[in-house]
Amino acid sequence: MIDFHCHLDLYPKPHVVLDECVKRNMYVLSVTTTPSAWNGTSALSQRAARIRTALGLHPQLAHERRAELPLFDRYLSETRYVGEIGLDGSPELRKHWNDQVYVFNHVLESCAASGGRILSIHSRRATTAVLDCLERHSAAGVPVLHWFSGSRRELERATNLGCWFSVGPTMLENAKGKALAVAMPRERVLTETDGPFTTNDGRPMFPWEAERAVLDLATLWRLSIEEARSQMTDNLRKVTSQLPGGAPLR
Ligand code: MN
Repeated sequence: MIDFHCHLDLYPKPHVVLDECVKRNMYVLSVTTTPSAWNGTSALSQRAARIRTALGLHPQLAHERRAELPLFDRYLSETRYVGEIGLDGSPELRKHWNDQVYVFNHVLESCAASGGRILSIHSRRATTAVLDCLERHSAAGVPVLHWFSGSRRELERATNLGCWFSVGPTMLENAKGKALAVAMPRERVLTETDGPFTTNDGRPMFPWEAERAVLDLATLWRLSIEEARSQMTDNLRKVTSQLPGGAPLR
């Protein structure tokens, strides 16, 4: 089971969630929202071989935290994974657009200058702007667009730019999300939850609930559950081997 985008450090009891992920042999990409969260969050999963921590600066916090960019650059050598980063074009964040673009471009430049990273990217209401940035910084690494919600045309452009996609149960609840998942290149799709920001029955969704996305993708792609599962495992191996220096996944 794979959750390629969740916020382990933001659950009320991170250690309990982490222990359960380890018990279930899960692969987890634990993303962070600020560089100052890096030390604490990466320490959380230090002994869990299948849990990786990504260094991030969330677009919704860009205006408050752009002074943490030197910290971002300092910690970047400690990880092959960067996220959550990106742009958010929601109306309430429009006034901070310039800060968002500044931070996202800085992060992509730093990643390019240090050999590239696997990038977990937020693109809500900002798909075209995100793709424009990625196109300009093609050496930044392997972009994984988390919870993609753009148009079909933007999906096609993202695919042509080499993007990957991480897809969760909430995205697959509506017709638009389903149609996008059907149109995605299935050899470049991973499952995620975005917990604890997503909920199930009024409580935060747990990483192992990414299983629901596997079942939904199996249905949408007309595969057996076993086929969908092994597609995800193959995809995880492939994406993590895109950059040099990665430990082999077991
Ligand atoms: Mn997130």
